[in-house]
Amino acid sequence: MGLNEAAVPAMQNGAEQRIGLFGGAFDPPHQAHAALARAAVAQFELDRLHIVPTGYAWHKARSLSAPEHRLAMARLAFQDIPRLVVDERELQRAGPTFTIDTLEALQKEHPQARLYLFMGDDQFAAFQQWHRWQDILDLAIICIAGRAHSARAASQFDAYPGFAGRFSVLELPLLPVSATQIRQLIASRAASAEDLARLVSEPVARYISLHRLYGAR
Ligand code: ATP
Repeated sequence: MGLNEAAVPAMQNGAEQRIGLFGGAFDPPHQAHAALARAAVAQFELDRLHIVPTGYAWHKARSLSAPEHRLAMARLAFQDIPRLVVDERELQRAGPTFTIDTLEALQKEHPQARLYLFMGDDQFAAFQQWHRWQDILDLAIICIAGRAHSARAASQFDAYPGFAGRFSVLELPLLPVSATQIRQLIASRAASAEDLARLVSEPVARYISLHRLYGAR
């Protein structure tokens, strides 16, 4: 499974496990993703956080970079964060990627665990279009991080009157970074090495340049 599996402590029998899921295209994984993952582990005292690069993302209009590149970059981007595992299962799944399938699999693997699903509030805005979203809410607590361009307000939970207590806010400073911005910056050749270093980790920057992703020279 993930690169830093060794960093995951053995879970105690009987104690409630807390397992997180943080999915994304990670094309490329950037500093806000890493900050979100760190904050998630700390704030929710997770035993393990599964970083899950999405396979065929039904809700993304553009085609994504090859799965092997996104997987390799995710491993590099998250390698220093304890309790993380980079989980390939959605990349290996044929057909569309649905979060509910991954949550159900995690639930089977850890029947006693409490599950947490992390996302930015741009993703949460369209949550009622997700496949079997009610089942997702039955299985996991949804933890939402604000993004620089979107309003952060608890009122976003008002649309879910039957699901009180199934939401939480991830405390994270607003980080104005997006993968779109990074791809555009690289493609425009306007990115200096320093620019890129602020947006992605150094190993990811090196990987992008080595494999000439996003039009990198
Ligand atoms: P793109 O610009 O290609 O849409 P992205 O930067 O949104 O990509 P994704 O891989 O699609 O990155 O995001 C994975 C998850 O991380 C999503 O839940 C998204 O909301 C969240 N996320 C991404 N960037 C931020 C950010 N700056 N602050 C908080 N959450 C973020």
